[in-house]
Amino acid sequence: MFDVAIIGCGPVGAFAANLLGKSGLSVLVIEQEANPYPLPRAVHLDHEMMRLFQSAGVIDRVAGDMRDTEGHLHVGADHGVIRYMGTVGRARPFSWSNDYFFYQPELENHLRQALTEYSNITVQLGVAFEGLEQDENGVTLRLSEGRTAQARYVIACDGSRSAVRKALGIMLDDLDFEEPWLVVDVEVDGPVRFPDLWGVPDGADLQKLSVMMCDPKRPATIVPGRGNHRRWEFMLLPGEDDQAMMEPDSVAALVEPYLSGVPHKVVRAATYRFHGLIAGRWRMGGVFLAGDAAHQTPPFFGQGMCHGLRDVANLAWKLEAVLKGQAPDALLDTYQPERDPHVRAVISAAVGAGRYICMLDPQAAAQRDATMREAARNAQHGTAADLIPAITTGIVAYGTAGAGERFIQPRVGDRLLDDVTGSGWRLFTRTPIDNADITVIDIAALDDAGAIAAWLDARSADAVLIRPDHYVFGTGQGTKTPADLIARRDALIAGVPRQEIAA
Ligand SMILES: Cc1cc2nc3c(=O)[nH]c(=O)nc-3n(C[C@H](O)[C@H](O)[C@H](O)COP(=O)(O)OP(=O)(O)OC[C@H]3O[C@@H](n4cnc5c(N)ncnc54)[C@H](O)[C@@H]3O)c2cc1C
Repeated sequence: MFDVAIIGCGPVGAFAANLLGKSGLSVLVIEQEANPYPLPRAVHLDHEMMRLFQSAGVIDRVAGDMRDTEGHLHVGADHGVIRYMGTVGRARPFSWSNDYFFYQPELENHLRQALTEYSNITVQLGVAFEGLEQDENGVTLRLSEGRTAQARYVIACDGSRSAVRKALGIMLDDLDFEEPWLVVDVEVDGPVRFPDLWGVPDGADLQKLSVMMCDPKRPATIVPGRGNHRRWEFMLLPGEDDQAMMEPDSVAALVEPYLSGVPHKVVRAATYRFHGLIAGRWRMGGVFLAGDAAHQTPPFFGQGMCHGLRDVANLAWKLEAVLKGQAPDALLDTYQPERDPHVRAVISAAVGAGRYICMLDPQAAAQRDATMREAARNAQHGTAADLIPAITTGIVAYGTAGAGERFIQPRVGDRLLDDVTGSGWRLFTRTPIDNADITVIDIAALDDAGAIAAWLDARSADAVLIRPDHYVFGTGQGTKTPADLIARRDALIAGVPRQEIAA
């Protein structure tokens, strides 16, 4: 009997296996294909993912293939800027650049390669999930060629068409967005050409931004990739045929305005339906849905895979605690309440952006442009990081300043904070205490240029307790805070109702 079986070794399954492997659990990974899907889908990830790759011990494998980038620019029907979410000059709270572009097959290869270092991980490639049964002891998996396997818990990372989700009869909540887009990947030998754009902020470099042309004649996205990879996404217009639009001549005509005179090679063109879907249940008995099996988003902020990596980062520390006897099974019931609103907020932002990006009526688009410019006129522009909300339920000391936020990762000397402290439960405090089961850090002794003291000052706090997935559990003022926070955490993990703890 394995501790955890993971169905699907895409980016989310492979990342989950790395996290669980590092915690010493016995893990089975089932993947129906021999090799990672060879063509890129995701091209963007954000700084939180780099921090999670640190936690999983894979950062040195993946960092070299990442190309940092500078955010998003949305351009209206008249080729003037309507929304800028640039990151130049902005804070880097996790000491990584705010956004990166990458090549999904390379990332998946790195994550798979890293699994070979763990003797506690068994990877079965070319084996498909076919069905399951559950009882009080765990889950029995029925696999291809008459095989079976048993695990205490199962994480379904088997993608958008998840056979596990279907086997459990879990329905998807439809956020009512569905638009057809053509995705074109190109190797480009030189800078991309853009039409004359106006209103581009000083310092914004079009070659380093994800540019959304919200042109009702043909909404399109132009994304810089890693190396010489560039991505275009073109909305299909009513009546256009998928097959015809994927033909080389159609693709060449679409990219020509951006690449005229620039040597390039189209490496693939495929159509997708962009939609917003979220599973009604993320846990059934010992089985959890994660990644695209649990939710799908329009890719306008490049967050689909990021959601999945956050899912399994949330689940991994809870599974470890339960399987090592440090927490009751009920801790795992906090997975969906913590993750669902988080994912729903970001998918809703992507769907909201999709509604104005995909506008095909010229008059409505002109009105949109005027309204968005007016709204942007007096406000400092936001970045995509602003879209990521705090956790508000589950294992957080709700009501304390900063609870549920992502904690900062300053540099400590020439190292990164998590590399110095490790990434389990950590208490940063002005009044250190003795505690055997968490890492206690006296902030006065930390060579972080005062970053954590400033973070605490901004929240009028003396101590902060951080979860293994780097979200803030809670903060407080006064010398009793460390002990209070730990007691509150223990009570929540033990399943004491929130109201009783507050009382
Ligand atoms: C055009 C496009 C652009 C995107 N851009 C971005 C972006 O910029 N940033 C971002 O974060 N996300 C982006 N995404 C989303 C991202 O690609 C997905 O969210 C991500 O691939 C999901 O990972 P996953 O591991 O959950 O599922 P998948 O990558 O689909 O992996 C599922 C795995 O499960 C295996 N499997 C399936 N069924 C079975 C079975 N029965 N038995 C065994 N194995 C099985 C499959 O072979 C596969 O290896 C984009 C998606 C698209 C389509």
